[in-house]
Amino acid sequence: MKVLKIDHLGIAVNSIENGKNFWTDVLGLAFEGSETVEEQKVTTAFFPVGESEVELLESTAPDGPIAKYLEKKGEGIQHVAFRVEDLEAALAELKEKGIRLIDEKPRIGAGGAKIAFLHPKSTNGVLVELCQRD
Ligand code: ZN
Repeated sequence: MKVLKIDHLGIAVNSIENGKNFWTDVLGLAFEGSETVEEQKVTTAFFPVGESEVELLESTAPDGPIAKYLEKKGEGIQHVAFRVEDLEAALAELKEKGIRLIDEKPRIGAGGAKIAFLHPKSTNGVLVELCQRD
């Protein structure tokens, strides 16, 4: 498999509206608007940084994955996303190598990207997202 770059860092926040000021006003990053992904019960906001992005994640429901993360750990880095050339091929290769996958097949994330998560038990405790953007 070919990993092209760190695509984005996913950061769980209680509120994008209240949390975005550090990223825009202090760091001077551009706010590219937000998008809700209903299936994942999350609203995401992207802030480009060079070739990568910061992704703020706000839960839309108390039983969503981000709400659960915030409850357990509070605000902070929730996942790291790597861009790959071919997500289906990458998942097949990882499965073959015995890596635990949360998503066996790609699903559609924010911005129409194909995404899949790997289980932190196989990745030194880091929730890893792989994504492919065409
Ligand atoms: Zn992400």
